[in-house]
Formats: sequence, C-alpha cells, structure tokens
Amino acid sequence: AKMQGGDAVHSFESHIKERVNERITLRNDLAVASENGELDLHYQPLVHAQSGVIEGFEALVRWNHPSMGYIPPPRFTSLAEETGQIMPLGEWVLRRACCDIKAINDRLGTQYRVAVNVSPLQFHRKDFLARLRHVLEETGLPASRLDIELTEGVLVNRTEAAIATLHTLRSMGIGTAIDDFGTGYSSLSYLRDLPISKVKLDRSFLQESDDGSRNAAIVQGVITMAHSLGLQVVAEGVETEAQREDLRTRKCDLLQGYLFARPMPMPALKQFLHGSTAH
Ligand code: C2E
Ligand code: CA
Ligand code: CA
Ligand code: CA
Repeated sequence: AKMQGGDAVHSFESHIKERVNERITLRNDLAVASENGELDLHYQPLVHAQSGVIEGFEALVRWNHPSMGYIPPPRFTSLAEETGQIMPLGEWVLRRACCDIKAINDRLGTQYRVAVNVSPLQFHRKDFLARLRHVLEETGLPASRLDIELTEGVLVNRTEAAIATLHTLRSMGIGTAIDDFGTGYSSLSYLRDLPISKVKLDRSFLQESDDGSRNAAIVQGVITMAHSLGLQVVAEGVETEAQREDLRTRKCDLLQGYLFARPMPMPALKQFLHGSTAH
C-alpha cells in the first residue's frame, strides 16, 4: 500500500509537470502559429429558418499543430486569454474573416454576413473599436455585414464602458449576438436596455431529454421574449429535420448546425456556394 501511495503521488506530480510543460509548449508554439500558417478559419452557414436562404457564416478558428495535430479552439483560446495572446489571435481571426467574406461577396455578387467570436478580453480593451474600424477599412468589408459574437458573461456587469461600446457598434451598423444564450446566469430582461441584435440559443436546449417538454418551453419562451425586445434568435447545433421543423414552427429566425453544413475551410465553402448559387 505504501509503495502504491508513493507511485500515486509520483504519477500525480508527473501528470502536473506534463500539463505545465504542455502549456508552455502550446504557449510558445501559438506565438508563431499564424506566421507558420498553422491557423485556419472554418465557416459554418446560418440559414433563415423560413426560406432556407443563407444569411451568412460564423468564422471558427482552427489550429493544426505540427506535432500535436488538431487542437480544439476552447483549449487554446482560453490559454491565449491567460497569456494575452488572444489580442493578436483575435485580430488575425477578425481580419481573415472580413477578408474572406468580402472576397466571396465580390466574386458572387452576394451580401453575406460574417459572425466573429470575440473574447471578453478583446471586447473590454480600450482600443477594441479603433482596431475594429482599422480592420474594416483595410479589408473593405462593409460594417453592416459584420456580427460580433459575445458570451453573456461579457455583459453581466453592464459596465458603462461595455454599454457604450455596444452603442457605438450599433451606430456603426455592426451586429452583436449573445452566444450560448441560456447557459449563464442571465435572463432576457438584462438585454432589455442593451443594443444587441441577436441571441444564439445554446444547442443544449435542442437536445431531446426525459424532460423534452421543458426544453421546448424554454426555447419557445426565449423566442417569444426576444422577439418582443426586437431581437433575432439563432438556434445553434441543429442536427435533425425534426429540430428544424420544430424551430421553424416556433418562429425561430436563423438556424445553424450540421444539418445544413459542418464548418468548412475556404476551398470547401467556395465549392458549397458554387453548388447553391446560380452562376
Ligand atoms: P461556439 O461559438 O458556440 O461555436 C459553435 C460550436 O459548435 C463550434 O465548435 C461548431 O463547430 C459546433 N457546432 C456547429 N454545429 C454543430 C452541430 O450541429 N452539432 C454539434 N454537436 N456541434 C456543432 P468549435 O468550432 O469547436 O468551437 C468551439 C468554441 O470555441 C466556440 O463555440 C467558441 O466559443 C470558441 N471559438 C471558436 N473560434 C473562435 C475564435 O475565433 N475566437 C474565440 N475567442 N473563440 C472561438
Ligand atoms: Ca459563436
Ligand atoms: Ca455558441
Ligand atoms: Ca458553445
């Protein structure tokens, strides 16, 4: 028993060491990942629930690490937030997303929107708006084609600065969406006086459960209240025809999920659109 205890302590220590080493490695590697061309953006369509017409795309970052392979975004975005690397990473994502969708719109004569995930750290920075304006100028994407996705935590404290930033975004014509809606502490009432344009209903509310009727009640409640506040509702994680039909009946505005398309890299997106646009 004594030996086993010792081994357990030893393996616990080595486990922690491994984790720390891995973090140091990832941190160093992330610093050069964009220069090395290891980062990529994948795009997933958002479609109008009633017509099935594509409104635009959410940009989702991908890191293909040279030795560790594909690393899921929450793992390195949270690390990047701790180290401050989220600033250059976030700006890379924003510039790249605006540039890609501008190119598609120019080529196809479309007006697609692009939704970009912005970390709370980015959003709260004093120079956030200035950098955003700069990227829009550089890329030429009209502000009215951009949506910024924020998690509800960003606005829970409703600081004056955050509210002022939202007002400026609105006056610029930029859309704002509350991501993963319903998973935090917020209720819709906190959105009442905030200039937000969309809520994205978390996909956990679409899952069938023993208590399926309860989820359905929440979904309907969010849609009804959001509409009364003048907000659009996006349902994330739509995987089945039944979910689509249900959301359509409930007057959900926009749908996103594997049923329509998985997030795709640019070449695949171009092909996907080629098939769906008359050209
Ligand atoms: P999110 O913003 O909630 O993004 C939606 C996630 O759901 C994506 O995971 C997407 O691939 C996945 N998804 C889409 N449709 C379906 C579906 O029908 N079924 C299921 N099961 N999943 C679906 P992904 O790409 O792994 O991203 C995970 C999270 O990482 C995102 O969650 C977002 O919070 C964060 N993230 C991704 N890209 C960025 C970025 O550029 N910046 C920041 N700050 N965070 C990002
Ligand atoms: Ca999102
Ligand atoms: Ca989400
Ligand atoms: Ca999520």
